[in-house]
Amino acid sequence: LSWKEAFQISDNWPGYSLDLFTYPQHYYGDLEYVLIPHGIIVDRTERLAKDIMQDIGDNDIVVLCVLKGGYKFCADLVEHIKNLSRNSERFISMKVDFVRLKSYHNDQSMQDMQIIGGDDLSKLTGKNVLIVEDIVGTGRTMKVLLNNIEKYKPKMIKVASLLVKRTSRPDGYRPDYYGFEIPDLFVVGYALDYNEHFRDLNHICVINDHGKAKYRV
Ligand code: 5GP
Repeated sequence: LSWKEAFQISDNWPGYSLDLFTYPQHYYGDLEYVLIPHGIIVDRTERLAKDIMQDIGDNDIVVLCVLKGGYKFCADLVEHIKNLSRNSERFISMKVDFVRLKSYHNDQSMQDMQIIGGDDLSKLTGKNVLIVEDIVGTGRTMKVLLNNIEKYKPKMIKVASLLVKRTSRPDGYRPDYYGFEIPDLFVVGYALDYNEHFRDLNHICVINDHGKAKYRV
């Protein structure tokens, strides 16, 4: 996928006014603007599901959802893949599993990242694995996760991430499938959080200083 083919949200995109949409009252005053409305997320996810079906729809796949931020995207993606598979002659068998990544923030060492929860990863041996993640920033997290999973020798690994951040690193990791390329901003909503808040917001939004201060820990 080249740059131009990606759904790119440019750095000077002002976003949508919050007044154009509905969102939970408890977040009134905490948000700057809507970066991606929920409907567009869902529509784009449907297309990603179609692309994934086209590429790997003849295989049985294990969907590995990265919690917590990936749960909305994963649920919607799996739903779309199921619908596409039901409405075509192709039958895709899917298993869904969940992992959580714990990194030690104090020493900032991502190499020490731990994979917790989910089934025994040795079950991935020989399988076609689709990792589903919310956002790729520097790509460090995904590289560590991929290194860990590759040890179990799956037949194939593909990565789908809803968002990719445009970082300054030109060698940045790019997933096989992604929904939107976004500016280097901190975003929340659609399961992405700020200190566990905003997961219950449907749209992907940018928080304002008031919101940051209110939910700072
Ligand atoms: P990376 O290792 O690619 O720099 O960071 C990836 C992880 O950082 C993501 O899985 C996500 O948990 C978190 N992250 C990065 N950017 C954002 C963001 O803008 N919003 C939220 N909520 N989490 C982010």
